[in-house]
Amino acid sequence: MRTLHKFHGGVHPPDHKTESNRLPIAAAPLPQRLIVPLRQHIGTPATPIVKVGDPVLKGQMIGAADDFISAAVHAPTSGIVSAIEIHAVPHPSSLPDLCITIEPDGEERWIERQPLDYQTADPDAVRARLRDAGIVGLGGAVFPTHVKLSPGQQKIKTLILNGAECEPWITSDDLLMRERAAEIVAGIKIMAHLIQPKEVLIGIEDNKPEAIVAMKAACQGTGFEVVTVPVLYPSGGEKQLIKMLTGKEVPSGQRTVNTGVLCSNTGTAYTMHRAVDHGEPVISRIVTITGNVAKPQNFEALLGTPLSELVQLAGGARPETSHYLIGGPMMGFGMNNLDAPLTKATNCLIAVSPALFPPKPAAMPCIRCTQCAQACPCNLQPQELFWFSQSKNFDKARAYNLFDCIECGCCDYVCPSHIPLVSFFRFAKSEIATQDREIMAAEQAKQRFEFKQMREEREKAEKAARMAEKTAAARAAAAANPDDPVAAAKKAAIQAAVERAKAKKAEAVAAADLPPLPLRERAGERGENIDVPSPSPQLSPVEGEGVKNNTEPS
Ligand code: SF4
Ligand code: SF4
Repeated sequence: MRTLHKFHGGVHPPDHKTESNRLPIAAAPLPQRLIVPLRQHIGTPATPIVKVGDPVLKGQMIGAADDFISAAVHAPTSGIVSAIEIHAVPHPSSLPDLCITIEPDGEERWIERQPLDYQTADPDAVRARLRDAGIVGLGGAVFPTHVKLSPGQQKIKTLILNGAECEPWITSDDLLMRERAAEIVAGIKIMAHLIQPKEVLIGIEDNKPEAIVAMKAACQGTGFEVVTVPVLYPSGGEKQLIKMLTGKEVPSGQRTVNTGVLCSNTGTAYTMHRAVDHGEPVISRIVTITGNVAKPQNFEALLGTPLSELVQLAGGARPETSHYLIGGPMMGFGMNNLDAPLTKATNCLIAVSPALFPPKPAAMPCIRCTQCAQACPCNLQPQELFWFSQSKNFDKARAYNLFDCIECGCCDYVCPSHIPLVSFFRFAKSEIATQDREIMAAEQAKQRFEFKQMREEREKAEKAARMAEKTAAARAAAAANPDDPVAAAKKAAIQAAVERAKAKKAEAVAAADLPPLPLRERAGERGENIDVPSPSPQLSPVEGEGVKNNTEPS
């Protein structure tokens, strides 16, 4: 029996799981069009490799990963590329993004699917398969999995599969574990083969008894251990699950692999199995459609399916639906535009009504009760972070480990003054990120200027050195061979030029010694025809100054 460790803080919001976990996963039909965003992961967005009008097959790569932290995207069905344009996407920023639209032909013609024998293949070839199949963390972080499974020199002792799914309302991982446990375990075997951990633990919250039974059965004979953890939000947070299962604390600012633990989502393991053992890229996912809809349920839908169609599949939104949440109510974000498509990061869509989510009362001043600090699973001081964020004292906020905040919302949940603390933390984080980017840009500009100066000085020095070298070589050649006719001719030419210059100078000196002549005579001497005007009355010589022709050049 494994000893469980308690993490600091945590809350018990009503879990609302039963609304959507009583029906099996339903397959969503093929929609009329699919909108596939090129940015469905953390890192560099995929680069489009098709153009408008191209025919595509189901599973064909349409966006390639051409950076290390990136992942490919694929056509979810066969059809024609009808647009590559900016379109609404489900993202907290509400900003649209570049998407490839596919008009399905209805034939669902697959690419040729090639399984890969990961046990005999080079580990780098397996990682390349994961990148090209678009495998990313499906727990919400969407970090490219081939990068995560490249821990470098760091030895991984424990591989943890996160099946906690602690956020209220969401049941997509629960249903996946119940229905496809064997395939998840097949994916975990690939992960374990790549990183060779000493132990593999699968953490599942105890409000998912069917999933626990299914996963235990599938793990028989593998040595993988299913560990039941108590319901406590956010037990599915990476650092919190690691603490519960191993007792290890991940220090502030460090990655989990630094403690010898790697954590991944059960849904990610499932997609790895499909990609490696069946040659199928990520073109669909399980999504919970719940809240104020007629028939809450989980659907397996193609990526790119408009969210409006998924809401219709769940019986449509009931009256009084005010808006929608993507993700859960603790960490999700609001959205109104249901034209946006399903993406790899979309695990849940909740229709919000005032009855299900009563509006928060107006915020009041902080009363320093410290309930937020007691609830914080990251051992932060939210009341201090709030103060520093509100007063834009970002240095202090950073010093108080603002970036350790996982935006779990526990502090918001318990605050008796109803202060939207997480909104302040998000604001402060984005401001600091902007400042950091500006500082980095200024530093890069300075480095570029210094480099340019250095290069110009180096080129000048090189040119001078080349000239000196040439002169020295010419002198040495002349000294070595005084009878060289070419050198002699050059020397004679130089000497003649010097003589000509001397003669010209002497002539000029002689001319300067001549007595001064009126301009007309001098011009006559030179054979020039000059028309000298008569002195004007105004310019008559002044008495006593002698006669001076005003037209004479001085
Ligand atoms: S949102 Fe951040 S500060 Fe608030 S409880 Fe969660 S981790 Fe702590
Ligand atoms: S819970 Fe709210 S009122 Fe209490 S200290 Fe934290 S921010 Fe202030």
